Amino acid sequence: MIIKTQGVILSQRSYQDNEKYLTILTKDCGLIEARIRVFGQIKRTIFQSICPPGYYKMDLFVNKQMYYTVDTIEKIEDFFTLRYDVEKLALAGYFCELTQALVPAKEHVWVYLRLLLNTLYLLEQEKRSPLFLKAVFELRSLSISGFMPNLVCCRECCEYEQKQMYFLPLEGELICSDCMREHPVQRNDLPILLNKPVLSAMRYIIYKDFDKLFDFSLSPVYLKQLSQVTEYYMLTRLEKEFNSLVMYKQLKTEEP
Ligand SMILES: [Zn+2]
Repeated sequence: MIIKTQGVILSQRSYQDNEKYLTILTKDCGLIEARIRVFGQIKRTIFQSICPPGYYKMDLFVNKQMYYTVDTIEKIEDFFTLRYDVEKLALAGYFCELTQALVPAKEHVWVYLRLLLNTLYLLEQEKRSPLFLKAVFELRSLSISGFMPNLVCCRECCEYEQKQMYFLPLEGELICSDCMREHPVQRNDLPILLNKPVLSAMRYIIYKDFDKLFDFSLSPVYLKQLSQVTEYYMLTRLEKEFNSLVMYKQLKTEEP
């Protein structure tokens, strides 16, 4: 059976000189692995140019055992200029790796595809800074994957805004300083005191409609805290190392 679809290449592994396996987030089949080889319409130059995080239109052949083979493939957007900037390329790789870790096999795949494609576009076009996109992508992708923190109000007194609000990464909740004195938090949780603009940004990222997701700004000092919080929250909830994140942090040129 042939399936016509579109998808982003999240990762690839080489098998032979003229054959490799692609992990693809497809619009119609969800997250799949597909074999591609130099054959027929897939010439060597096309074969070599296909790599993450490219977005392609493709015909997939699927056999009874549900093994996919790429039959034809055509570029929609290969985000080629990202390759001229190692920092951005590493960050794009991280977005792909995080997506691969979070996306369910088939359901609501378009939500992830839309978030990933928009983030890659803004990164390549330099519409928003890498650090901004990293923070937004981390928190939003976690939120659509069942890890949405509850940032409405203090979990004890239900105040929306208090002088000092702490974020509890392990529980994904807020607690104000008054309540924290009376209600000790879990021993292994690490409360993070949030600056007001950072809390507002976090609320914006998780509750805002997708169309306006990237339409806010934050000064560099708050952006730095936001990125630290979203990254720490991601690592706490997923309990997983991301090689591409390590690489991005080694390469990034922004102020540490
Ligand atoms: Zn409180």
